[in-house]
Amino acid sequence: MHEPVREQVAAASRHLAAEGLVLGTAGNLSARSGEHLAITPTGAQLAELTAEQVVVLDLDGCVVEGDYEPTSERDLHLGVYRRYEAGAVVHTHSAMATALSCVLEELPCVHYQLLALGGTVRTAPYATFGTPELAERVLDALEGRSAALMANHGAITHGADMAAAVEASLLLEWGCGVYWRAAALGNPRALDERQRAAVVEAAVERSYGSLRER
Ligand SMILES: [Zn+2]
Repeated sequence: MHEPVREQVAAASRHLAAEGLVLGTAGNLSARSGEHLAITPTGAQLAELTAEQVVVLDLDGCVVEGDYEPTSERDLHLGVYRRYEAGAVVHTHSAMATALSCVLEELPCVHYQLLALGGTVRTAPYATFGTPELAERVLDALEGRSAALMANHGAITHGADMAAAVEASLLLEWGCGVYWRAAALGNPRALDERQRAAVVEAAVERSYGSLRER
């Protein structure tokens, strides 16, 4: 039971490790399947994670399947599912996002692709990992967004499914890299409200981002 969703979490962990977004045991991922969620165990090498190592919880956070202790950020993941319509959650300590989280109050919307994350990405104030305080601050920072930076800690994204959450995580890291480079050259311009509205309009009109027949 729950084998497909456990494999999804393991495969996404290995993928993000291959992309360099998670190093060693740092980071955690989960995906929802009905009234349960599959989540990475604490202390696991994410680059080599197997479906058998993934833990299954009910929505109260009780372990229903698996031999390992779930991630210390279990409450953060549960909070995202409770508060937002999420199908999957990805938390990383990826280099660019983490560096910017040490400096910025928010990542300005410097590129229109960041609108896929909700535009400007907020930085949740710092709190110790695994605490209810951290979960609360991060959940607030995610309001109306599918991504947030976590001050002096890392980043979090969520999506309708694991593919979307992983995609958001990669997009955020890319956006942080763009901002980083731009800020090294000068004062980056952010898209204003009118420019953002025009992007949304054009995207709807042209079904941007999806393959379509001619
Ligand atoms: Zn963390």
